[in-house]
Amino acid sequence: MKSESMKQEKTVSDILVNSAMKTRNHETCDLDDPCGHEHEPEREESFLTPMADAVYSLLEGIGEDPAREGLLKTPERVAKSLRFLTQGYRQDPEQLLKTAVFTESYDEMVLVKDIDIYSMCEHHMLPFFGKAHIAYIPDGKIVGLSKIPRVVEVFARRLQVQERLTQQIRDAIQNVLCPRGVGVVIEATHMCMVMRGIEKQNSLTTTSAMSGEFLTNQSTRSEFLRLIGSK
Ligand SMILES: [Zn+2]
Repeated sequence: MKSESMKQEKTVSDILVNSAMKTRNHETCDLDDPCGHEHEPEREESFLTPMADAVYSLLEGIGEDPAREGLLKTPERVAKSLRFLTQGYRQDPEQLLKTAVFTESYDEMVLVKDIDIYSMCEHHMLPFFGKAHIAYIPDGKIVGLSKIPRVVEVFARRLQVQERLTQQIRDAIQNVLCPRGVGVVIEATHMCMVMRGIEKQNSLTTTSAMSGEFLTNQSTRSEFLRLIGSK
């Protein structure tokens, strides 16, 4: 039992950015259990090789010559870049939040505005990017402010639709802090729309997800929207 719970602890600690711990975890982690230890070269290699092969085929498919000088290392570069941009699959956002929860009696709205978001749509694997605005009203617990952009990043570094991304951020904060309410608004530009000429060049997609008092209290909701200057 004890070793089981210790293993659980270690599995989530990859995001604790404690290099001493990391080294120890690396020795004990289970290769069949994706624990997010990006520093395992052999394991990483087992993903990169087939991915690079697939990119090679993609290059042929679009009519390129993968053997020409400029493209020689492209399959490997694209594979590494994709692994980096999707590292959120191997990180646990709720555990990340739990590492910085503090008891505090502050009970007004906490708002983190203009968080940069870079993600990829799951339909085209093209980027979408913009800003996230996140607020919550504590109920005895607050979270270290820097963890909020980090949680956004963990979810954004997965293949996403903006709607789900917005809800996942809300739910993670709601689940960990149990606050009186959470409000999340994301405004983003989708390359799959603008590059393919589906929408005007500057069109923004806005999504929101709320819980608790952000749903039930009109003045809380209005204050949030006013503070973020949402149109
Ligand atoms: Zn798309």
